[in-house]
Amino acid sequence: KAEFMKFAYFDKEIVEFEKATVSIATHSLQYGTTCFGGIRGYYRNGKVAIFRLKDHYTRLMNASKMLGFEYFITWDEFKDIVTELVKKNDVKEDFYMRPFVFCKEPRLSPKKAGLDFDLAIYMLPLADYVSTEGGLNLMSSTYRKYNDSAIPTKAKAGGSYINSFLATSDAQRNGYDDALMFDDAGNVVEVSVANIILVYRGQIIIPDTGNAALEGITVRSALELLEHNGYKINRGKIDRSMVFTADELLVTGTAMKITYAESLDKRPIGQLDFNAKPQAGKFHKLLKSEYEKVINGEHELSSEWLFIVE
Ligand code: PMP
Repeated sequence: KAEFMKFAYFDKEIVEFEKATVSIATHSLQYGTTCFGGIRGYYRNGKVAIFRLKDHYTRLMNASKMLGFEYFITWDEFKDIVTELVKKNDVKEDFYMRPFVFCKEPRLSPKKAGLDFDLAIYMLPLADYVSTEGGLNLMSSTYRKYNDSAIPTKAKAGGSYINSFLATSDAQRNGYDDALMFDDAGNVVEVSVANIILVYRGQIIIPDTGNAALEGITVRSALELLEHNGYKINRGKIDRSMVFTADELLVTGTAMKITYAESLDKRPIGQLDFNAKPQAGKFHKLLKSEYEKVINGEHELSSEWLFIVE
């Protein structure tokens, strides 16, 4: 069960988390009209370092624009609110921060006209979201990833998470950790709330599935770290058989950071023998150690990627 930090940002001010409440009839609750971010912060060497805060801000504002919420806040205003909130919560541990744009007004119809959207932010302590031992056991989901022609897939829109909810809940009901999702043509898109990178015959491949996957900030970072280490990234269509026979399937997201899949539909990834015990691969090890260096402030990219709360 999540334990929230004492203060949140709501209605343009910092309030106690319990006091940040809305009516059951709000537009956002009834129609899923929100867009949100998920950001990690780390407490290192006596300071709070937030991972790629400006990139998260930009994605959130782009989402608000794509969805037509007509909510906008400048980077300076946003970073000042985040700074004040972190200070008010007296943060001394690793955490997760959830900013979102939503509408708290009650409304019976889904239309936008006359509705105002606003920003809220809450925070919670978060160490590791997935166990650090081993990788994920994935199930091929029968729920297809929705297409950008239906809902902007890059928007992290609250309502669209019914798709992730169905996929991940079914996978867990069947005894798996999470779901691998495909588009209508059977190409791999992403995991329910994380992106994937395939290592296939030594090549690094990311899914070329048009608009279907979220533009994850962790996957972008992983790819930049791979390029930084001299590796080339390929974009291509990935089918299920390629995953079964891959060297590695890396899984990236803010909450899970950089992890890997041990198996898909019980076939071990990176092993020929159906019954072999899967191992972490070389790219997973490389990226995990690079990512740790970044957040510990020991990487060339640390100063670019970390927003230090002063
Ligand atoms: N895809 C989906 C559908 C997600 O919800 C997330 C989590 N935000 C991701 C991918 C990973 O994105 P990020 O690395 O920015 O957290």
